[in-house]
Amino acid sequence: MGEYERKRDFAVTPEPTGKKRARRRKGALRFVVQEHGARRLHWDLRLEHEGAAASWAIPNGIPDDPGHNRKAVRTEDHPLEYLDFEGEIPAGEYGAGTMRIWDRGTYECLKWEAGKVVVSFAGEQLRGRYALFRAGAAEKDWMIHRIDPPETERDPMPESVVPMLARPARLPASDAGWAVEVKWDGVRAIAYCQPGRLRLESRNLRDVTAQYPEVRRLSRQLGARDAVLDGELVAFDEAGRPSFERLQQRIHQTSESVVRRRMKSHPVTYVVFDLLHLDGEDLMAAPYHHRRAALEELGLDGPSWQTPGYSRGRAKELLAASAEHGLEGIVLKRLESRYVPGKRTGSWLKVKNVGRQEFVIGGWQSGEGRRRGGLGALLLGYFEGEGEERELRYAGKVGTGFSARDLEELLERLRPLGRKGSPFAGRRGPRQAHFVEPRLVAEIEFRELTADGMVRHGSFKGLREDKPATEVRLE
Ligand code: MN
Repeated sequence: MGEYERKRDFAVTPEPTGKKRARRRKGALRFVVQEHGARRLHWDLRLEHEGAAASWAIPNGIPDDPGHNRKAVRTEDHPLEYLDFEGEIPAGEYGAGTMRIWDRGTYECLKWEAGKVVVSFAGEQLRGRYALFRAGAAEKDWMIHRIDPPETERDPMPESVVPMLARPARLPASDAGWAVEVKWDGVRAIAYCQPGRLRLESRNLRDVTAQYPEVRRLSRQLGARDAVLDGELVAFDEAGRPSFERLQQRIHQTSESVVRRRMKSHPVTYVVFDLLHLDGEDLMAAPYHHRRAALEELGLDGPSWQTPGYSRGRAKELLAASAEHGLEGIVLKRLESRYVPGKRTGSWLKVKNVGRQEFVIGGWQSGEGRRRGGLGALLLGYFEGEGEERELRYAGKVGTGFSARDLEELLERLRPLGRKGSPFAGRRGPRQAHFVEPRLVAEIEFRELTADGMVRHGSFKGLREDKPATEVRLE
């Protein structure tokens, strides 16, 4: 009995037994690539060779240009009938999951030596010359390399996109020509998806993939496609409202075991609203409505990701509805606008229901009563001017909205930043204060912002790690 038979229980799995004697076929040699949704998604390449199907498992799909060699794990020979197999391998069996034919056709064998195979594919998707070769210590360690240039001209996938930003505004006089969406109260993230892998980057280009493992499975839904997505990581509360407070439990966690636990207690959803690149085509220059249509066609909808719709016009109704549901506000995007990374242009506007923005923490005051000895209030500020001229302006203080955990964490973070004098230029802030280097950024909700830039009735919402303090301006 061969390795193939040993690994499988044919009373349970629908896979071919290999008992049928393979008839000698005349004609061209056949190949298949099966997309195998096992515990980890991968692609199985099988080549008809000497009466069996020689097999490799390719974790990141078959490369389409000579620039990237990819790992190919040599697996046991499969019976020839396997070239036609599609189906569900039941849970508990070897390779449990869905096996689907991704491409098949014939190939020409150009070289077949121990440790090196060169072939030329003639399939529907897979065409051209490839080499498979041993690389690595173990018998099973191989690589696959495309020899021919790419079949079609491809735009390179961008590696780091600073997300496009929305300008704070009031409702435009006319909403014709605008797409209107909910403003999601979370943290922005760009997802770079390639076969079998996904990388999430925050707006300050930090790799946050490991912090949000539940989003990774999105790449399975994309299969062999390449895509760059723009969206917001959101934690929903019991009422289904985005909760920036809940998200706090995830933003600051990097320890793997804590992340695993919080993933259950404070799950996040990646809310996708833009598509910047798809299968070798840069979409950033395409109008928003085109990008959205292409995004919707992907049908990205899963346990930890979704693609909410948008409306054309009806901004007023949507803003009212968002207020009614306790949401932060709406975002308007010009239907004809292109994607401009890192820019706050007039083609994306955010209209908020309550005053809400980030402030730099420039100091703190001790608490009284129950909070005696601890933190009482934060002193807020924002930057004005550029370069040498840059100055921190005092914007008042906020003494509510803290959880017990916030109070502790804030003190822990603020104490090492202590400094003698006030960091504020102009109005120096209250005299009874512990001043700090202006590094930490706090998200503050407020009822009113006075004409001279002072926060009234403010409430602390959380710390922001995705924004450098020097970028904090009055909105
Ligand atoms: Mn497999």
